[in-house]
Amino acid sequence: MTIPYPSTQPLPAIPAVTPPSGASRPRLTFLGTGYLGATYAICFAELGYEVVGFDIDAEKIAKLAGGEVPFHEPGLDELLKRNLAAGRLRFSTDIAETAEFGDVHFICVGTPQRADGMGADLSYVEAAVTGLSQHLTRKALIVGKSTVPVGTAEWIEQLVGKHANPELGVEVAWSPEFLQEGFAVEDVLRPNRIVVGVKSEWANGMLYAAHKGVFDLAATEDREVPLVVTDFATAELVKVAANAFLATKISFINAMAEVCEVAGADVTQLARALGYDPRIGNRFLQAGIGFGGGCLPKDIRAFQARAQELGAGEALRFLHEVDLINLRRRTRVLQLAAELLGRRYGPAGPDLSGTRVAVLGATFKPNSDDVRDAPSLAVAALLHKAGADVHVYDPQGMENARRERPELTYEPSMNDAVRGADLVCVLTEWADFRNADPVVLGELVAARRVIDGRNCLDPALWTQAGWEYRGMGRPA
Ligand code: NAD
Repeated sequence: MTIPYPSTQPLPAIPAVTPPSGASRPRLTFLGTGYLGATYAICFAELGYEVVGFDIDAEKIAKLAGGEVPFHEPGLDELLKRNLAAGRLRFSTDIAETAEFGDVHFICVGTPQRADGMGADLSYVEAAVTGLSQHLTRKALIVGKSTVPVGTAEWIEQLVGKHANPELGVEVAWSPEFLQEGFAVEDVLRPNRIVVGVKSEWANGMLYAAHKGVFDLAATEDREVPLVVTDFATAELVKVAANAFLATKISFINAMAEVCEVAGADVTQLARALGYDPRIGNRFLQAGIGFGGGCLPKDIRAFQARAQELGAGEALRFLHEVDLINLRRRTRVLQLAAELLGRRYGPAGPDLSGTRVAVLGATFKPNSDDVRDAPSLAVAALLHKAGADVHVYDPQGMENARRERPELTYEPSMNDAVRGADLVCVLTEWADFRNADPVVLGELVAARRVIDGRNCLDPALWTQAGWEYRGMGRPA
């Protein structure tokens, strides 16, 4: 069932329900206050809900309670301070208090790749649901938001059945999340769709009430937020299917870049020409060093692992290729570096010892401090492993990068990173790098050689300033 809202039709399918706490609007909790949960807690307080954010990380909770967002997300700091001051938003490490407070509890904990395989590690989900269930004292709705393998919601229902008092009638629902880091506030307040997997009219009504603030905001702005009400399995699959599609689109254009490289064609012009076809579109069609982050890589792997378990592994075999294409782009930078620096590329890779390389960008995308599985940082590590003296600068990701890759040298500014470099690699398309003046940087480097890992620089401008330029999938 898809319901456009605001709608000219009445909405008889969604029953009005009274929150079990007796409050006029459901009181919301978010378990796990990372990139997803903290953003949600803050934005839903902004929409007028009473909210508690819960995490087992006491340091994170202390920061949030003190008005400091523990990660970089544009626009979130101001909303946090405003809603703490308004008294609608609290943060806690006390699960009993959190259980007592909420009518709707959203599970937003991490689901990283397992250490022993491609599947998702559901131990954080299990711990959060078990802990919460044991402390519930009245009826509530537990809503999964983390990205999980299909079948997890059913398993959670069993966990709740085991750990919550059966007389309370606690229910489970699933509502996957599509926010993009860097645009997270906008994506939460103004989502392009809301998907809910429910089994009862009560759960449907509670979830509708828990999102009414989003629908009301849309109505004041004369917009519609499509609502898709479906079963558990479909709701879970929507998220991983969306990520599989996006990853495939990126790897498709990166595969075209590989072909362009050997054919002497330019993938940026190819992509532009393809993108004019509305059936294809130009978004996610930028060739570069590929996708990364805390979602796409682990989600396509977990999806394959789950499909295999269900006997449909063959259907997703292409995702293995998508992953391989993506990882090959990282080695391509190493090949280009060897070429530009005049080093031979042997079977064990190039020997870059004695060279100094500036890496601009450590996060997996601009406007975030997230370095999880970041292609930029992975390439920096490959260059270091090949013997180069690597100097990294990133506008927001330095602290996380230093923790992840302590072997690299970190510089306080772009100019410091490029000073004395034999090669500059632009690996995350931050505006600071896109708009950098090649003449000014040219004065600082030892040699004017640049690899544009995101095809985000103007080759003509850099070449005119005396730089030897290499892009991804573009002729030399
Ligand atoms: P994150 O690592 O930033 O945050 C996870 C949080 O959960 C951490 O703060 C951790 O301390 C906390 N946690 C762990 N165990 C807990 C427990 N038992 N109780 C309470 N808190 C606990 O991860 P994230 O990026 O916010 O992602 C969370 C989930 O959302 C993942 O499944 C991810 O795939 C999904 N998701 C993320 C995004 C995104 O852009 N980051 C977008 C859509 C979906």
